[in-house]
Amino acid sequence: MVLNFSPEASNQPMTHNLISKHNLVVNILRAEIDEFGGKMVLELSGKADDIRRGIDYLKANNVGVRPIKEGVRRDEDACTHCGMCVSICPTKALVFDPKTGKVIFTEEKCVACGVCIDACPPRAMEILI
Ligand code: SF4
Ligand code: SF4
Repeated sequence: MVLNFSPEASNQPMTHNLISKHNLVVNILRAEIDEFGGKMVLELSGKADDIRRGIDYLKANNVGVRPIKEGVRRDEDACTHCGMCVSICPTKALVFDPKTGKVIFTEEKCVACGVCIDACPPRAMEILI
């Protein structure tokens, strides 16, 4: 899911509380937060009731919570197959195919960490939220 932090919320130990008070396992995939607020992409795992309570806790503290609907998409027309994303993708969702000289994107392997988005020169990679 994607969390949007207000300036007030950015100073609170939200992820620590999700772990310690709501028994959740938190895997932060991407975070861009400073004292003015920001965004975080994370995976939450735990019991369904704990996840519900954790999400209620975030919303009650002015954190916007949105599910990632479809993960990450590549604009096939924009991709130049430059290969810049291949070595930085932690899950090998982006790999170079030596037969075709193209970079193959396997959506099922993508965990929406967002690393490739900043690295892609033509901005072909996009998180769908
Ligand atoms: S960095 Fe962008 S343009 Fe280059 S291969 Fe990856 S997705 Fe395509
Ligand atoms: S967001 Fe990009 S870098 Fe991260 S797992 Fe998905 S394809 Fe790989």
